[in-house]
Amino acid sequence: MSSTIGQVIRCKAAVAWEAGKPLVIEEVEVAPPQKEEVRIKILFTSLCHTDIYFWEAKGQTPVFPRILGHEAGGIVESDHVLPVFTGECKECAHCKSEESNMCDLLRINTDRGVMLSDGKSRFSINGKPILHFVGTSTFSEYTVMHVGCVAKINPLAPLDKVCVLSCGISTGLGSTLNVAKPKKGSTVAVFGLGAVGLAAAEGARIAGASRIIGVDLNSNRFEYSKNFGVTEFVNPKDHKKPVQEVIAEMTNGGVDRSIECTGHIDAMISAFECVHDGWGVAVLVGVPHKDAVFKTSPMNLLSERTLKGSFFGNYKPRSDLPSVVEKYMNKELELEKFITHEVPFAEINKAFDLMLKGEGLRCIIRME
Ligand code: NAD
Ligand code: ZN
Repeated sequence: MSSTIGQVIRCKAAVAWEAGKPLVIEEVEVAPPQKEEVRIKILFTSLCHTDIYFWEAKGQTPVFPRILGHEAGGIVESDHVLPVFTGECKECAHCKSEESNMCDLLRINTDRGVMLSDGKSRFSINGKPILHFVGTSTFSEYTVMHVGCVAKINPLAPLDKVCVLSCGISTGLGSTLNVAKPKKGSTVAVFGLGAVGLAAAEGARIAGASRIIGVDLNSNRFEYSKNFGVTEFVNPKDHKKPVQEVIAEMTNGGVDRSIECTGHIDAMISAFECVHDGWGVAVLVGVPHKDAVFKTSPMNLLSERTLKGSFFGNYKPRSDLPSVVEKYMNKELELEKFITHEVPFAEINKAFDLMLKGEGLRCIIRME
């Protein structure tokens, strides 16, 4: 990239012009990075449900025209990097706390479409700005990001596999291992068996859970789920009773831990109410509709149930992500089983269709 220092790069990007309309591959201008920014050549990206929500913009603030995408792998000069939708400035109270990854400066902001330093976009078409998405905009051959949101990783790690660690898989895995923290032999419920939920199940398996109950409205998910340690499956549609009651009956009063990975408020409430009183912990991971309200009886909390939530599985992107990549390199974590489809960049809309139909887990989008 040395010959392009300080220059505008022209490249292809998939632009979301309007809510819910297929992305259009356009030639865009990508401005040079400013202070504390880097320009990344994206090699592989994939699609997470969060992209779909902000593309549909049914329950989220519409911000268009915009370049979506946040799960990816790329290179800066010769470094291999994973872009992350939430950052780590390493200076603020959150970055200095062992307990938080909610960086004051660089935490996720889904409504901002510009760079922090000057409030401007680095993308344009014929001079007209195209907005950014969660500081990443990886559906582009080149993107500009704040350095604090870029994790430098082992250059030997294959980017076509570890790109899925830049959001979904780390989020699910960390939500179990870092937040829910099930004890060996415990019972864990996972709501939503997409890539995020199955990574949460994988975390429960690694933690030594003896029963992992998968909950999904789509029964096709069960076949996949067996490869991720899920031992039992509940489809709420098969029962007249609320699913939390079904689970309480199956488990003699409730599960020890539950992790919600659907983004639907009813599933969030069920995930909380299905944990055992006295010690149960529920973790919310799904991104809710912007007007959603969580409602439950305070008695459910008084009787010693804990409700938590997490972004990016509580991993600090720059400090912790390299070690998650090493888990893959050491074969402690399998990523291939999450990758069910692959398309060239020109066919990116196929990845959207697959996710909308609930088919497969992750679809890798090859930029070259
Ligand atoms: P996905 O679409 O692949 O999977 C979601 C699954 O949930 C589907 O199988 C669907 O059938 C199921 N589902 C939907 N409503 C349900 C309900 N009421 N009860 C049971 N199951 C239900 O999505 P994904 O990419 O795995 O993402 C899952 C969620 O995690 C999304 O909300 C996404 O935005 C969110 N997410 C959050 C973070 C974070 O840091 N907190 C990071 C990544 C993704
Ligand atoms: Zn910080």
